[in-house]
Amino acid sequence: MSTKKPHKSALKNQEGVSIDEITNPAAIAKFKAKRNKDISAKKLAHAIIKGDITALSRAITLIESANPDHTAKANEVLNLCLPHANNSIRIGITGVPGVGKSTFIEVLGNTIATSKNKLAVLAVDPSSSVTKGSILGDKTRMENLVKNKNVYIRPSAAGNSLGGVARKTRESIILCEACGFKTILIETVGVGQSETAVHSMVDFFLLLKLAGAGDELQGIKRGIIELADAIVINKADGDNLQKAKIAKTEFKRALHLYPPKNNGWIPKVLLTSAIENKGVDEAWSLIETYLKISKSDDYFNIKRIEQNKFWLYQTIEDSLKSNFYHHKKVKEELQLQLKAIELNETTPFAAAQYLLTLL
Ligand code: GDP
Repeated sequence: MSTKKPHKSALKNQEGVSIDEITNPAAIAKFKAKRNKDISAKKLAHAIIKGDITALSRAITLIESANPDHTAKANEVLNLCLPHANNSIRIGITGVPGVGKSTFIEVLGNTIATSKNKLAVLAVDPSSSVTKGSILGDKTRMENLVKNKNVYIRPSAAGNSLGGVARKTRESIILCEACGFKTILIETVGVGQSETAVHSMVDFFLLLKLAGAGDELQGIKRGIIELADAIVINKADGDNLQKAKIAKTEFKRALHLYPPKNNGWIPKVLLTSAIENKGVDEAWSLIETYLKISKSDDYFNIKRIEQNKFWLYQTIEDSLKSNFYHHKKVKEELQLQLKAIELNETTPFAAAQYLLTLL
């Protein structure tokens, strides 16, 4: 039995929680890890399937963790959730920073989210791995949508490669679906091929654009337009309205350069003013029409199966690459080969071939 006198002061620490645990980031991480360890994968999965948002957030944190124990547990949760997933529509939204993505999603989200159609908003933000800062996450975003009880917003997954971030987002989609979310919006910025990654995980891909930003041709060159199921020219208001109308004609013309989608769909161009809540309802109707058409001829399922096949290859490639670069011998020899290239003592091809034999 303890001989210590009990504290009389109200300023005493709670038993078992030191100041260090409250203020020290490493201690906080340890505390969170411990909390995640406490609940079994089975319990976590059951809670998610019942619609428990806290369990969902915990499981997504496990997915995002670099700790191998967490990854193993996350995989277990994912396997248990998988039979309950797939029952949703997934919509990708992309556009340069400042085009109005969060404003648009806020309006769209409040239109579509109901108790029968719960909405999850996930973000793919590769900028955080490229620039160590987040383009999507740094500002306060979607302040109104956050308050909507039928909406779950999860900021961008952390990761040091687009492949990693994209995988985590795909796995988060599965958990959100198992948790009962019927619509999943996945937002991304047009950085480092993130559009391609998002395009390959959604049923409908929407490209937000600005009129007269001089990037129309760039978009065409970079092939983003080819990916879009709809182009929405935002900020079609005030002095910008006329320019937006002209841009609409230009985009329509540009879209004719591409063949229709595999299901015969010809991408549409719309004007919106997210800030004035104009045109967003029409954008939603268009998405609904598209989904109705693609579900009626089974294109919806065929596309998802194709996407899963793509992700199988993608995962193999990511994993081969990661194993290669983390291999101890490769790490050492890579530096020597880089030096040899600097000194013109070898060719990149010979060096690569040699390094590949080390695995
Ligand atoms: P994001 O970086 O793509 O998420 O863009 P935001 O939604 O944060 O919007 C960037 C800026 O554009 C903000 O100041 C918004 O208020 C403004 N904005 C967004 N949509 C519209 C719109 O439809 N019309 C006008 N005039 N401004 C808008």
